[in-house]
Amino acid sequence: MCIFCKIVKGEIPNQTVLEDENFLAFNDINPAKKIHVLVIPKEHYDSFDVIPPEIMSEMTTFIHKVVEKLGIRETGYRMITNIGKNGGQEVSHLHFHILGGEPVGRLVR
Ligand code: 5GP
Ligand code: ZN
Repeated sequence: MCIFCKIVKGEIPNQTVLEDENFLAFNDINPAKKIHVLVIPKEHYDSFDVIPPEIMSEMTTFIHKVVEKLGIRETGYRMITNIGKNGGQEVSHLHFHILGGEPVGRLVR
C-alpha cells in the first residue's frame, strides 16, 4: 500500500487541515513554504493523468474549501501537481501541493 493510502487509513499520522468523505488535506512533512498543504483523494489514483474528470471536479470544490480554511484565497497561492518521472513525482498517489502564506516566487525561469 502506498504511503498516502496509509495516511488515509490512519496507519501513518498526519496534521489534517480538512477532510470529507472522499478527500483529505494535510500538512506536508517537509514544508517548502510557510503554508504547504497536500490535497489527496482518499481513493488511490497514481497521478492527475488518470483521475476521472468527474472526481477532479469534486476535488476542485474541496480544494476551494481548503484554501478558504487556510485563509489564503485573498492573498493567493500556488497549486502544483507533479506527474510521473520527468514531472518529479515521488509519491505515486495523486496529490496537489498548495503553497502560500508568503510570496512563493517565480515558477518558470
Ligand atoms: P511529490 O514529489 O511526489 O510531488 O511530493 C511528495 C510530497 O510528499 C513531498 O513534498 C514530501 O515532503 C511529502 N511527504 C512524503 N512523505 C510524507 C509523509 O509521510 N507525510 C507527509 N505529511 N508528507 C509526506
Ligand atoms: Zn495510495
